[in-house]
Amino acid sequence: MIYLDNAATTKMSRTAVTAMLPYFDGVCGNPSSLHSAGQAAAEALTDARERIAACLGCTAKEITFTSGGSEADNQAIRSAAAIGARKGKKHIISTKIEHHAVLHTLKALEKEGFSVTLLDVDENGLVDPRQVETAITEDTCLVTVMFANNEIGTIEPIAEIGAICRRKGVLFHTDAVQAAGHLHIDAAELNIDLLSLSAHKFHGPKGIGALYARKGVPLATLIEGGAQERGKRAGTENLPAIMGMAAALEEACASMEKNAKKLTLLRDRLIDGLSEIPHSILNGDRTRRLPGNVNFCFEGIEGESLLLLLDDKGIAASSGSACTSGSLDPSHVLLAIGRVHDIAHGSLRLTLSEETTQEEIDFTIAAVKEVVGYLRNMSPVWRDLQSGKRDYIIK
Ligand SMILES: *Cc1c(COP(=O)(O)O)cnc(C)c1O
Repeated sequence: MIYLDNAATTKMSRTAVTAMLPYFDGVCGNPSSLHSAGQAAAEALTDARERIAACLGCTAKEITFTSGGSEADNQAIRSAAAIGARKGKKHIISTKIEHHAVLHTLKALEKEGFSVTLLDVDENGLVDPRQVETAITEDTCLVTVMFANNEIGTIEPIAEIGAICRRKGVLFHTDAVQAAGHLHIDAAELNIDLLSLSAHKFHGPKGIGALYARKGVPLATLIEGGAQERGKRAGTENLPAIMGMAAALEEACASMEKNAKKLTLLRDRLIDGLSEIPHSILNGDRTRRLPGNVNFCFEGIEGESLLLLLDDKGIAASSGSACTSGSLDPSHVLLAIGRVHDIAHGSLRLTLSEETTQEEIDFTIAAVKEVVGYLRNMSPVWRDLQSGKRDYIIK
C-alpha cells in the first residue's frame, strides 16, 4: 500500500515501539507508588516530560499529558476561558479554518455566554496578523490560531500573532498538532501561552498528546481524582504511550531538517505532476506549507469516488479531513479559502511521510491522472463543461 494519509495519522516508528515495550512488560509500577517499582515508573515519567519539553523550548513543569490533540485543544481553550471569565473577559478570537476540536469547543463556549470572532483567511489559507490585532478588544481573553492547517498545509504567521497577543496582554493558544515534530517550535520565542500536540501525528502512539501551558497560566481541572498532572487531570498515567511519544518527538525533532528537505522535494514533485491535470487547482499556499502536504481540487469530480478508485490502486488518500469524510458537508477549510461547494467536493489530500519514495510519488501522479480522466468521462457535469453548456469554475 502507498500510504499518503499521514495528516490523519502516521505509522509508529520503530524507535517509538521499542521505547514503549519495556513499559508494558518490564517497568510495571504506578508512578504514584512509593516503592521502588513505582519510583522507577515515576523517574521514567519525569524523564519523558523533560525530553518533550526540550523539543518545544519549555520546561517539564509546563507540560501536561493528555489523551491527544483534541483533549489538549479542549483543555487549553477551556482553561483560557476560565481565566478570562474570572476577569470578566469573555471574548475569544479564532479562525474559520481551525480543527473541529477547537471550533466545537468555541461553539460550546458561545452557549455558555462567550462571544467568538472567527477570522477569515486569504485565498491561500493565511491568517492576517493585522486582523488579529484589530479584532482584539478590552474583553478578549484568548486568541487561538492553529500552527499549520491539517487539510491544506498552510503554515500560519505564529510569531507575529504571538508578539501581538503578548503586547496586548491576551493569552495565545496554538493547535500545533500538524506542526510538532515537523516544524521547529520554540514556545517561549514565539510568545505562545498554550500549545497542543498529538503523538500519532509524528509517528508516536495514538491516544496520547500533550498540552504546553506557560508558567503562570493555570489549567482548569479536567478530571477530578488523584494528584496526577498537578491535579488537573487525575488518573494513572499511560506510561507506555508517554514513553513512545517522547521517543517519537525526539526522533522527529532530531531529523527534522533532513526530513523536511526530502519531503519538500517529493511534495513539489507531486504538486507539479498533479498541476498538469486540466481544471485542477492547488489548495493552500505554494511555499508556506507543511513539507508533506498536497491538496488539490479537480473540477467535475466527487472526492469520495476518487478516494475509492485510488484505494483500488493501493493508494490511501483523503478528501478533506478524516473527521468530515462520511458526511456530505464540504470541508469548512476549503469553503473558507473561497472554493464553492461543487469544487470543494472534488478535493484530494495526499500527505507524505519520510518513508514515501519518489517511485510512489510518480506512481501516484499517474494513478490520479488516470482516475480523474476516468471519472470525468463518466460525468454528465463534465460533458456539459466540455460542450460549453456550463462554464468551468477552475480555469
Ligand atoms: C489530528 C488533529 C487533531 C486531533 O488530534 P487527536 O490526537 O486525534 O485528538 C487536532 N488538531 C489538528 C490540527 C489535527 O490535525
